[in-house]
Amino acid sequence: MTELGRGCSRGCRFCAAGFIYRPPRLWSGPAIIDALQRRPQTIDRIGLLGMEMAEDRVIDEIIGYLRNQDCSLSFSSLRADRISPPLIELLAASRIRSVAIAPDGCSERLRRVINKNLSEEKLLEAAVALTTAGIVHLKLYVMVGLPTETQEDLAELVRFIGRLKREIDPIGRDRGRLTELTLSVNSFVPKPWTPFQYCSYGGLDPGEARAAVSSQPAIKRLRERIGYLRKHLGRLPNIRLKTDRPERILRQAILARGDRRLAPALIKCALRGGVLKKSLHEIGLTAHQYAVRPRDDDEIFPWDILDHRINPHYLYDEYRRAFSEKSTAACRPDRCRSCGVCGNVR
Ligand code: SF4
Repeated sequence: MTELGRGCSRGCRFCAAGFIYRPPRLWSGPAIIDALQRRPQTIDRIGLLGMEMAEDRVIDEIIGYLRNQDCSLSFSSLRADRISPPLIELLAASRIRSVAIAPDGCSERLRRVINKNLSEEKLLEAAVALTTAGIVHLKLYVMVGLPTETQEDLAELVRFIGRLKREIDPIGRDRGRLTELTLSVNSFVPKPWTPFQYCSYGGLDPGEARAAVSSQPAIKRLRERIGYLRKHLGRLPNIRLKTDRPERILRQAILARGDRRLAPALIKCALRGGVLKKSLHEIGLTAHQYAVRPRDDDEIFPWDILDHRINPHYLYDEYRRAFSEKSTAACRPDRCRSCGVCGNVR
């Protein structure tokens, strides 16, 4: 296993790793190749970590080296807009059968909201190239309950999956085996130190979330979203739909933005089992106040005691930019000073 860097330069607005591990520290192409050269000579399969954020030029250098060395490749996931012809050739030669790509948002609009910025065309191109290269199992990860999400975003995902199947099924039929699609649908959990730390679990807009007196409207919204996808995609041939249970993920959403007052409720749960929500109620707390209540820019967060060097105003600006679907460029630590991390080394 060889890492191409640490942190991530992409700035997806939901992703804790992309913010708490700033600045991104990418190895140069020559440094990676030098490390690969020093591997034990019996090793001819190389795992690459962090391919999503490496520069195209660096990936091409590594691929060229691996092909010269007759090495095969493995990796955990790929960015759909990073799939180049040399990479596809190496994938085919490596006999990789399964690849995961993460559109994350159900529609192109939502992918702008979360700063993922992947177009439907890029996703389709990637799926066609991967199927042609012999991939027989394609996994797609999406979230429901993202801020501003509407039924129309989900309808776009349903249309996209139909289009995707019309593109890749003939390729599979010609080679005698269809590519199986797995669509993994996960309820979005707002995370500390991200621009979406201000959001509500369940994708309620701030007005709805304030009006809600419990976590039920959030759970109901997520169930409806998942139910819609089940209804429209669950029975299609050769597609597996994996969904979570929003009422279970609620626990994650409580813990993610929890504070020290949660401790007695957790101890109660640990000692006698039972439901976290109920234990919270017994000590005068609610799931709503941790998971669903929207936060404003003047909120003092429990995690403010940790200094990741990111300016909180930057996180709030990024949150606001999400609502106007404005994209933010990937990190360039040599020249960018936007979030407060680079050029501020202590
Ligand atoms: S200052 Fe710029 S390059 Fe550095 S971590 Fe922040 S956004 Fe990324």
